[in-house]
Amino acid sequence: MIKSAENVWAACLNFIKDNITPVGYKTWFEPIVPVKLEAEALTIQVPSKFFFEFLEENYVKVLRTALVRELGKEARLLYDVRLENSYSSKVPQTVKIPSSNRSPMQPQSVNFPSKNISREVKNPFVIPGLQKVKVESNLNPNYCFDNFMEGESNRLGRSAGMAVANKPGGTSFNPLMIYGGVGLGKTHLAHAIGVQVKDKYPDKTVLYVSTEKFIQQYGDAVLKNNNRNDFLHFYQMIDVLIVDDIQFLSGKTKTQDAFFQIFNELHQNGKQVILTSDKSPVDMQDIEQRLLSRFKWGLSAELQAPDYETRINILKNRLFRDGVIVPEEVIEFIAKHIKTNVRELEGVVTSLIAQSAFNKKDFSLSLAKSIIDKFVKNTKKEVSVDYIQKVVSKYFEIDLETLQSKTRKRHIVQARQLAMFFSKKMTKSSLASIGSQIGKRDHATVLHACKTVDNLSATDKQFKKYVDDISKKLSF
Ligand code: ADP
Ligand code: MG
Repeated sequence: MIKSAENVWAACLNFIKDNITPVGYKTWFEPIVPVKLEAEALTIQVPSKFFFEFLEENYVKVLRTALVRELGKEARLLYDVRLENSYSSKVPQTVKIPSSNRSPMQPQSVNFPSKNISREVKNPFVIPGLQKVKVESNLNPNYCFDNFMEGESNRLGRSAGMAVANKPGGTSFNPLMIYGGVGLGKTHLAHAIGVQVKDKYPDKTVLYVSTEKFIQQYGDAVLKNNNRNDFLHFYQMIDVLIVDDIQFLSGKTKTQDAFFQIFNELHQNGKQVILTSDKSPVDMQDIEQRLLSRFKWGLSAELQAPDYETRINILKNRLFRDGVIVPEEVIEFIAKHIKTNVRELEGVVTSLIAQSAFNKKDFSLSLAKSIIDKFVKNTKKEVSVDYIQKVVSKYFEIDLETLQSKTRKRHIVQARQLAMFFSKKMTKSSLASIGSQIGKRDHATVLHACKTVDNLSATDKQFKKYVDDISKKLSF
């Protein structure tokens, strides 16, 4: 039988149907129309850019498997995306997009230095079933420099990042520390550096790890398997190590020790270290001095909230990638109203696209207004231990020093305990870190405070009211 787009797609559907849920099949596969088959490239038409993204995010594996079965290893998938809702054009337009703009990151093979006796080094990112030790970079290829918009707010970080990516370990920016508030692009930039290194130097081993994951792996390595050395060796053979949200090391002295050893080994061997944090090294708490001083060796670059121009650029780039056309005035309106961070900016864009797609509305100014209204109301403020202490002190009309003082006066003790309780509940800080920030107490005191607050709110009406009031103030 001669292969056609129709029969190849029909065969793919048969396979896909057996491998996904009926609802998924009905929703996401029935509406697809096969349009063209050229050599090993099958083009399918999908109803919207959303649809395309959903498929790529959720079904790309099964799609790929089905295609390879039908068309062999060289199989390629192309999408024709109908640009519904494209502003001002009633005739549907289409845009062609290849499946997965970038290929997913390949696992990297690593040569172990012989002193580590290769097979015995345990890889904490175990990939079952693989013989050779492979290191997944954990990089997200969509977080690249191309779509990291430059502006005054990030110029230093971005250009230092570029320099590091082009010459990992070979600049004075080692470590490169990227710091700044939430949603300002730290994670994106950190990945972009890694992605660029892999592009330029495919043989270098790049590893991205969140600090939370690092802490957890360290705990597992030590407690469960008693192989702290393997853990260290594993990290010491990485060429470019990216550790995200390093502030979470605060209070974790054992993990800090391990990180210190890894850092020194890498640094001495000219390997690159990239760190991100929500605070500058100067403001970090409960991180050992020797580690802090290492952090300051290289360059600390702050990411700030983007200015208006940059917000416009980010919005336009985002919309362009989403394949939607939105009137200039709507873009300007969003950029004027959402100022604090990029994540919110993106949230508004996503709701805007979703709303207009579901309700078949145009991207009008009034739609943007209603979304921003809802959005601003619904976004939970991210709170810090500092902020909580301020809110609690203000509520009880005491000053911060009193709250943190050693006094045992009942109402002040209660205020302090409430501050600890809410810090535990609403931040990611460890007990130790909360304690040290609230008047240099230890973790046991914080734990005790949390229990006391739980007990008192169950038995004492007045106290319960404090909890409710403060809770409201904190979640505004
Ligand atoms: P952080 O790690 O600082 O909390 P992220 O890196 O997660 O922030 O960024 C939040 C979102 O904003 C991400 O989707 C990211 O792609 C986007 N973003 C941040 N800065 C930029 C920028 N300069 N250009 C384009 N997108 C950005
Ligand atoms: Mg982040």
